[in-house]
Amino acid sequence: MQPSRRAALYLRISLDATGEMLAIDRQREDCLRICDERGWTIVGEFVDNSVSASDERKKRPGYDALISAYDAGSFDALACYDLDRLTRQPRQLEDWIDRAKTGQLVIVTANGEADLSTDGGMLFARIKLAVARGEVDRKSARQKRALQQRADMGRPPLGVRLTGYTTTGEIVESEAVLIRRIFEEFSHGESLKGIAARFEAEGIKTRRGGRWNYSSISSILRNPRYAGLAIYKGEVTGKPGNWEPLVSEDQFALVQARLADPRRKTNKIGTHRRHLGSGLFLCCDCGSRIYAWSGNRYRCPNACLVRSIAPVDAYVISVIKARLSLTDVLARMRRAPAESATPLEAESRALRARLELIENDYDAGHIDGRRYSVATEKIRVELQDIERRLAAISGTAPLVELLSRPDPAAAFDDLTLMAQRTVLDSLMTVILRPGKHGDRRFNPATVPIHWNGANSLA
Ligand SMILES: [Zn+2]
Repeated sequence: MQPSRRAALYLRISLDATGEMLAIDRQREDCLRICDERGWTIVGEFVDNSVSASDERKKRPGYDALISAYDAGSFDALACYDLDRLTRQPRQLEDWIDRAKTGQLVIVTANGEADLSTDGGMLFARIKLAVARGEVDRKSARQKRALQQRADMGRPPLGVRLTGYTTTGEIVESEAVLIRRIFEEFSHGESLKGIAARFEAEGIKTRRGGRWNYSSISSILRNPRYAGLAIYKGEVTGKPGNWEPLVSEDQFALVQARLADPRRKTNKIGTHRRHLGSGLFLCCDCGSRIYAWSGNRYRCPNACLVRSIAPVDAYVISVIKARLSLTDVLARMRRAPAESATPLEAESRALRARLELIENDYDAGHIDGRRYSVATEKIRVELQDIERRLAAISGTAPLVELLSRPDPAAAFDDLTLMAQRTVLDSLMTVILRPGKHGDRRFNPATVPIHWNGANSLA
């Protein structure tokens, strides 16, 4: 019977895209099982999250603590999922082999392949590591070349200058103000035509003195260079350019999601409207969306009711502002950060690229129709899910931004009507009941408001 050993577990999750992502919990389960089989006592667990074992410049706090604990004599057995988890550096492996050879330390791996106490086991470990190491070195040489290339591509392109920048990539502030405003108003729910119309009304011209229109606004919103993203042959390279961005990558991603949303044109918020509740308020009788009618009245399309716009809007705005000034509720909402759009947008781009590849393969006759539809269907389902999530983020973006202001209730007044409508739609559902004839005073009971559960403001 072997003497019971004091065992340490070393667990590491790596996200270095080698496809070996294995949850900590599963590693732990397997390691605990082999310790249990041997009757060892667990004296410590050392964990590193998302840290690569191949890059010696990266700090691995769990690994460092493991070494210290060993040097302090805290354990004489070590369990890890496999040797790759423990180290991918030859020098470190030799250290572990030395510790195992002297008989002071037993190393076991959950996949059973490491036995550093025998010559064969050591040889196997060294070969395996050398092979993995070669792959890492090749990868890093590739990355260095790619970095150089991206730096070249990251230069502001020569030739026709981009509105908002000089030809050498300096910001032209008078133009940058407009660019930022275009992104802001669009992500707040304003339409492309609406933005152009406001610029026209304010006498704002393009830099060549022309009129803003649907397509000039759209081409600005679609240009990744405003988010500081380098483009090469029309594609985003995924690396930042060396000029200062005018909008954040997140905002850019949200805007792309909205631009790509096929529902945008019929979107209840995104179309150009002149009244707060048009297309948002619901009829209490038939549940239809209510629209403005004849300029100063809301009307159910099924003619269930007609209400004066002004008192209803005034009441709804007062309720929104009262709600926005409740600091405790706001604090609760601020604590729940919205999912970031950038990784979703990247995922969506990757899926679209895959769709295109499959389509090319099909066109070229490399795959048959059945495989084509199986492959594309899967991707389309994933895409739909991502786009639903993106739509959810872009829907609440103005609200989240509003809540970051020092006085959200006051800031609500400064929002454009489209942004106010977006905030309203994220917060609440407003229902209209018929007003009583001859009732001179506005009765709030005729405008019941339901707070949206997702924001739990009620
Ligand atoms: Zn109705």
